[in-house]
Amino acid sequence: MAALPILLFEDKIMETVEKNSVVVIIGETGSGKSTQLSQILHRRGYTRSGAIAITQPRRVAAVSVSRRVAYEVGVQLGEEVGYAIRFEDRTSDKTCIKYLTDGVLLRESLSNPELDQYSVIILDEAHERSLNTDILLGLMKRLVKLRSSNLKVLITSATLDGVKVSKFFSGCPVVNVPGTLFPVEMLYSSERPKSYFDASFRTALDIHSREPPGDILIFMTGQDDIDKMVSKLEEKIQNLDEGSCMDALVLPLHGTLPPELQVRVFSPAPPDCRRIIVSTNIAETSLTVDGVVYVIDTGYVKQRQYNPSTGMYSLDVVQISRVQADQRAGRAGRTRPGKCYRLYPSIVYHEELLDATVPEIQRSSLAGTVLYLKSLNLPDIDILTFDFLDAPSRESLADALMQLYVIDAIDAAGMITHVGRTMAELPLEPSLSRTLIEADELGCLSQALTVAAVLSAEIALRPIQRNAKDSKSKEQPLQLPDGSRWGDHIQLLQIYESWDRADYDSDWCINHNLQVRSMKFSKDVRKQLSQIMQKISKGPVDVQSSLRHRKGEHDYRSLRKALCKGYGNQLAERMIHHNGFRTLGYRSQLVQVHPSSALETNEDGRLSDYVVYHELISTSRPFMRNVCAVDMAWVMPIMKKLEKMDVYKLSGGLEAAITKPVEHEAHQQANKEINSSGTGDSVE
Ligand code: ADP
Repeated sequence: MAALPILLFEDKIMETVEKNSVVVIIGETGSGKSTQLSQILHRRGYTRSGAIAITQPRRVAAVSVSRRVAYEVGVQLGEEVGYAIRFEDRTSDKTCIKYLTDGVLLRESLSNPELDQYSVIILDEAHERSLNTDILLGLMKRLVKLRSSNLKVLITSATLDGVKVSKFFSGCPVVNVPGTLFPVEMLYSSERPKSYFDASFRTALDIHSREPPGDILIFMTGQDDIDKMVSKLEEKIQNLDEGSCMDALVLPLHGTLPPELQVRVFSPAPPDCRRIIVSTNIAETSLTVDGVVYVIDTGYVKQRQYNPSTGMYSLDVVQISRVQADQRAGRAGRTRPGKCYRLYPSIVYHEELLDATVPEIQRSSLAGTVLYLKSLNLPDIDILTFDFLDAPSRESLADALMQLYVIDAIDAAGMITHVGRTMAELPLEPSLSRTLIEADELGCLSQALTVAAVLSAEIALRPIQRNAKDSKSKEQPLQLPDGSRWGDHIQLLQIYESWDRADYDSDWCINHNLQVRSMKFSKDVRKQLSQIMQKISKGPVDVQSSLRHRKGEHDYRSLRKALCKGYGNQLAERMIHHNGFRTLGYRSQLVQVHPSSALETNEDGRLSDYVVYHELISTSRPFMRNVCAVDMAWVMPIMKKLEKMDVYKLSGGLEAAITKPVEHEAHQQANKEINSSGTGDSVE
């Protein structure tokens, strides 16, 4: 195999790195930035005075690339080469090449702001503009001033925004590593297809039956579509006439694929067989799949967006940017001339697509980030003066400050509180950290730890079909104690506790249609969170089991109260004459409980006049996901706090364009409108 382009530039890169503290390296995806730079620096002796940290925005990339590098260096993963992602650390004292997610490096800098265990920090994939990498860019600027003699910072990017980053670092040098890209022929559709799914399917089959050998890479928007496409292609290809075309191997690729399935995309196709890889945008730049000659680009990507004026995340399928379209096309020309099938007209590419993707910092809730920056306790770092490559909007900063104030993480003057500091020690989103601290006060920490673990493990724990009779599967219905009617958090807790009672048995999970891997992961997460809480907690914490040291309340009162505190920004009140809820706080809107929720409501609405929700997602309309019933008595103090909130003081004078707390009349108006509209009764 030809040497990777980065290796041909080794001397030039090293000369530049020796003379400068910060260097930007631009190279095509697949040129070897992620896998080779760390090895070059290691060979050149940079690991003598400290380890090399290489950050990745995605967990899956940190794992996959470190595995590859360990293999290339010829060591066991976890020894000289290792990785650390949230809740999973595969490093040891020997580790000198450490791949880690950008979030983990941020966390490390909390306990060691100078990060002096590292001699080199590589911020890889900076073009992805993840929220955490953007924050790291700002922190690095400060760090290189402090440690100019013994720290090197390398920033790598696949696209040409190097000039901007270089300017940010006072004109640091940019090394361009030209790739050996072969020409890629662009084939546009004459119009947008009615169904991208069908169009991708047809195009893939067309290529497979007509074009010479070479792998096909299809970009789809999400796991569901990918799984559907894989089975549809497999079925079709099996039924093709024998001898009419070569064999094909259809492979899915996305971030939640189990590791053993992920590795398959890195093995070449068997002889006389074409691979068809159906992927999310992860194959755009994060993972390099060799052997691709044909790319099918639907022109879309699934993107999470936060709207600070509603406090709502939505998962939208949006058009990709031109930079992304170019990256996708580039995947076809790595080994020889290729073809890219754009399933949209060329005018869309030239006139409709945005130049570049909106950075995550401009489409995320910043509560966690603002808390992080405040907890760093650095006199020269403040949220209002922080040096951002692209600043977030004032509205979203104000939104973050208000959220933090409501859950006591900052005081009325915007200063971080004792509670806020403790929250920052936990690797959780602010609402869950606050819940744990409150649960500790209320004596139900054990239960709250379980809830936090299960929610953070992002397990699709939806085994209990309330209409189980309709279910075709043979799974055994899970008998949960009375109480799951209080909502999803309680139901998740009960599921986990039933598994605990079954001695964490794998068969138990299988029998109840729960993923063994995810359940084990949540157990591991629970253990890690318990260990952190042991240092913080006032009482004993049982790391091993969720069942001891717990209050035996039938109505889970303490736990629900703790959740109410933690999720003080995510409260909703039942509408009196209506099936829906409206969110409380400085932004109010009409929402529904997600149909998958375990929350049961009485006719008279007595059970849950008030709820907290884990997230608000907008599909056809706003839905609350993971809901828990709370008492009015717990809600009132939060509302009082909101009323007294002075955003001007909170933000130290930030003139933010924010929505004022919704006034009483406005509430009534909202109630009136929805009650007269009469459309909200059915929940989709
Ligand atoms: P870049 O960071 O510039 O995109 P990489 O260093 O990720 O490039 O990739 C360089 C080469 O290493 C590619 O040919 C890619 O296929 C290969 N590679 C990367 N990760 C793996 C892996 N986990 N297994 C096998 N090959 C890999």
